[in-house]
Amino acid sequence: MRWKSGRRSTNVEDRRGGRASMGRGSKVGLGTILLVLVLSFFTGQNPLSLLQQIDSQSPSTQVPNTASAGQDEAADFVSVVLGYTEDTWDTIFSSQGARYVQPKLVLYEDAVQSACGYNTAATGPFYCPGDQKMYLDLSFLRELQRMGASGDFAVAYVIAHEVGHHIQTILGTEQQVRQAQRRAGRGVQSNQLSVRMELQADCYAGVWTHHTERMQQVLDKGDVEEGLAAAAAVGDDRLQKMAGQRIQPEAFTHGTSQQRMEWFRRGLETGRMDNCDTFSN
Ligand SMILES: [Zn+2]
Repeated sequence: MRWKSGRRSTNVEDRRGGRASMGRGSKVGLGTILLVLVLSFFTGQNPLSLLQQIDSQSPSTQVPNTASAGQDEAADFVSVVLGYTEDTWDTIFSSQGARYVQPKLVLYEDAVQSACGYNTAATGPFYCPGDQKMYLDLSFLRELQRMGASGDFAVAYVIAHEVGHHIQTILGTEQQVRQAQRRAGRGVQSNQLSVRMELQADCYAGVWTHHTERMQQVLDKGDVEEGLAAAAAVGDDRLQKMAGQRIQPEAFTHGTSQQRMEWFRRGLETGRMDNCDTFSN
């Protein structure tokens, strides 16, 4: 990806070097946290909600940040990609007579407190609708490589996917889906709604790629393949396989590798948001 000369976003909130620590007197020890991580791995439950079940007394202090953005190349790259998402979505929204509200991106290490609660890096990158911020621990980039997705555009895809969730939030899709999930209760139907949300975010990542390439010519040879490989790497079936589990489609919450690649490609080829209706397809 051609990014060095790109504009750096001013929406990066750097909380590296400051750690969200569990409060003094908290009953949650390291052993518990490890146990919860193992449990959440096998049950697919959010480690945070498990932790909160164990200790309703939630965390606490956040040391103010000392590191500044741009200290290392990865952080620099992230801020350029975020800048590209801002430029592209600004343009797409204003072409439809709407205004794009830019999300913030929080860089953190190990653990972070958000409007969505307390999360460890094990959660992976996530978007929190409650505060309209994306959360990224840069150690995930190594994890992504381990999962078979290497290259800078794999990282760009992940960021673009999280921005896709932000788009769903400002368009009201996220809220509608949450309501439908509440009505559906826990189970397969709720999981399927989650899959449709995720695939739509993949499609929006493709739409973003399409327009960013048109506007700023950012793609190097092989970038699209890197994006597709990243989409495949985070497919539910692939993740279950890597975890040594039997493939259980009813437990899928993100879609198969094949589905994720297909929707990313669909957005990429057409550049049209209205081709990203994963809910009626
Ligand atoms: Zn997602």
